[in-house]
Amino acid sequence: VDHLVSQVHESAEDDVEESSGWQEQITRGRFAGQTVVVTGAASGIGQATASRVAREGGRVIAADISAQRLNELAMELAGLDLVTVEADITRQESVDAIVSSADGRIDALANVAGINDDFSPLHETSDAMWEKVMAINLTGIFKLTRAVIPLMLSAGRGSVVNVASEASLRGNASGSSYTASKHGVVGLTKSAAFMYGPQGIRVNAVAPGGVATGIPFPANISATGSARLKPYQAQIPTLATAQQLASSITFLLSHEGVNLNGVILPSDGGWSIQ
Ligand code: NAD
Repeated sequence: VDHLVSQVHESAEDDVEESSGWQEQITRGRFAGQTVVVTGAASGIGQATASRVAREGGRVIAADISAQRLNELAMELAGLDLVTVEADITRQESVDAIVSSADGRIDALANVAGINDDFSPLHETSDAMWEKVMAINLTGIFKLTRAVIPLMLSAGRGSVVNVASEASLRGNASGSSYTASKHGVVGLTKSAAFMYGPQGIRVNAVAPGGVATGIPFPANISATGSARLKPYQAQIPTLATAQQLASSITFLLSHEGVNLNGVILPSDGGWSIQ
């Protein structure tokens, strides 16, 4: 019994120590002293996430395929600690450039970059659409996470947040390529969470519902795609802001999510419970 009581006391002391460190971190800014990579950082949810991390004291490695919008982000966040990297996450040389711009330290990674499909049903989905959506939404996350994990393993800690979707949770949303790619993000998240949790690395995902961003629909969307898009849009109960999604992402990304690993967090105003 004495042995058990002393274990409980030790654990309570650890909790006090841990919570005081955590409170100090929150006072200084949740990301103070941390380097955080954000992809898709030049628009929408990624931009809001990059901005929140930088304003909360973090050094942001902001990666996006759009150089022009990255420049706009740099102007918006002038005076904060921001490094921009023009990068296509489907290309290994871009992934290497993102990692090398972090000078050997990456505390957290937000995999936000992603694209829509054209809402086609499976039998009308072209190879080109399938391959492009898979390459960006799934393979891009795989390649960048693969490159970042060794730094986190050396540090013995890290946090990764992947952006999934409402279409990760059920089959009626979006077309086949997008829905399959976002279900893949869930599998990748859970697999990595299971694998690296014991080494201090947490891997979680946020599943947004409808969010008011600039995410484009393909220009050549088919007649069937358009017909599926309208009722889909009509189902969305509330259109969230990119800032609301940044709140969910940074919660999981920061120490506030300390006890969460392998979680797929719907951030959709309750859409997925309907
Ligand atoms: P967005 O278009 O505003 O931003 C996406 C960013 O990703 C853009 O800046 C784009 O340039 C970048 N990007 C695209 N391809 C890239 C590549 N190959 N390499 C690097 N960067 C690339 O879109 P958003 O709405 O902010 O979407 C962000 C994420 O949220 C996506 O993964 C999307 O699937 C997901 N999501 C969005 C919604 C929504 O309603 N907006 C809903 C569910 C999930």
